[in-house]
Amino acid sequence: MGCFIPAAIAVVLSGVMATRSVAAEAAIQIIPQPRSIQPAAGSFVLTPTTAILVISPELASVGRYLADLLAPATGIKLDVRQAGGSEAPSIVLQLDQALADLGREGYALECTPEAVTIRAANPAGVFYGVQTLRQLFPIRIESRQQVEGIAWTVPCVSIKDQPRFQWRGYLLDPARHFRTKEEIMHLIDLLAMQKLNVMQLHLTDDQGWRIEIKKHPELTATGARLADCSGKKGEHWFYRQEDIRELVAYAANRQVTLVPEIEMPGHSGAATASYPALACGGTPSSALCVSQERTFEFARDVLDEVLALFPSPLVHIGADEVTPARWRACPQCKPQMDKLAQTALPAEVTPFRLPANPMAGVPFQEDVARLQGEFVRRIDQYLTSKGRRMVGWDEILEGGLRTDSRAVVMAWRGAAAVSGAAGRKLDVVVTLHPDLYLDNATRLEQTYAFEPVPSDLPAGQEARVIGVQGNMWGEATPTIQRVEEQTFPRLCAIAETGWSARNNRNFQGFTTRLASFCRRLDLLGVRQTSREPSPK
Ligand SMILES: [Zn+2]
Repeated sequence: MGCFIPAAIAVVLSGVMATRSVAAEAAIQIIPQPRSIQPAAGSFVLTPTTAILVISPELASVGRYLADLLAPATGIKLDVRQAGGSEAPSIVLQLDQALADLGREGYALECTPEAVTIRAANPAGVFYGVQTLRQLFPIRIESRQQVEGIAWTVPCVSIKDQPRFQWRGYLLDPARHFRTKEEIMHLIDLLAMQKLNVMQLHLTDDQGWRIEIKKHPELTATGARLADCSGKKGEHWFYRQEDIRELVAYAANRQVTLVPEIEMPGHSGAATASYPALACGGTPSSALCVSQERTFEFARDVLDEVLALFPSPLVHIGADEVTPARWRACPQCKPQMDKLAQTALPAEVTPFRLPANPMAGVPFQEDVARLQGEFVRRIDQYLTSKGRRMVGWDEILEGGLRTDSRAVVMAWRGAAAVSGAAGRKLDVVVTLHPDLYLDNATRLEQTYAFEPVPSDLPAGQEARVIGVQGNMWGEATPTIQRVEEQTFPRLCAIAETGWSARNNRNFQGFTTRLASFCRRLDLLGVRQTSREPSPK
């Protein structure tokens, strides 16, 4: 299914197309919108003699990626060469420290009839220049079969570009409904196409444990065979460690960082189903019993193997929505909670209580926050000792973090969580419900209009907002088709929010460009949908 363009805008568009150069209008349709585009006359034409010239050896893999990208539709496997001096028209990839002011991911793309030149200070920038070049080619470049009778032209243009935010993410939830390795790879390809650079993998929850942990094999022997959200049971619903390594490498080759999310102490039903001794009273439940040392040792064992697999400097521990009934009935947790509730927080710990929020899954309770806070701070210190940074949902603010914590807060329960984190000098990734929740039926326009930096945030704290993310929770998506339909095209809006300058975004221009982008997605076999708000 193609994506939704409001009828009124489509009419306006057709009027514009009639009065301007159709070719020029149609030629440059890029998502996310680049920072500056200066069109020029003429075009570059790809032919079988075109070469990809890799001036810097570090760019060889980007060159091969580009050659592979262009081969199916054109039927031409471009030669990737390391030396310059070619007479033939070329696509030139080059590292250039003079462009360092564009940052790690910025790039400059120059197209003339003789050559397309992509320069950047870092390979990531060249890779994003390649993604822009891809969208400068005719839409049918995305065809996975050879297309006959088309000139593979690129309009002459000069583009300078860099992202607004360093974290441009997408959460996938294979815990609630398992997704295969191949499905994840396909989604990584689609993230890269939109210049998104983080995939958060929600690997554990009440319904399933999806990552092999060699020291604790029951996690997958039992925890990967529980009923999923459709009530189905599986035999092999987990990723072996070699699968994870393969996914990490595949993503890295596309400038995507896989951020593992291992839920604790809540959403841990699959862990306690596998090892009941980890739960209060030894009976499986959603919450880990956090008042026994073996629970911390278990968490440390799991994280040790996770850190060995995922090079990401950031590791997500969940820490949301603990259901406290079992803690309150636990002979170890209950006295601990009572004691903490009557004790002042240590001087080095700062808590932050969010305003009451109807979207909060579990309302704030002081004793619960204090007990969770003790556990979260230990995990924070453990990850810090391993050279990594903890990421957690905004509940980590309520239990209190140490003033020297370098944790990243993932804000989901309102702009107050963004301001609260930034005000405590913590970096924050914005993924507020409902605007950025792809499992919700939010309208495309609402998602596009969302601004991650709260209007009341003091100017000096804006830099604490390091990114934006769309969350594709998996409870209601039993198939990859449903995942794609929920994801697209709204993820394109989030990608533009994450990349494009704030003053360079407008919905009408976006929908024009989106029409082209969605035709590219069609050719890639990606299902898309339009959604009006409807009850869940
Ligand atoms: Zn307990």
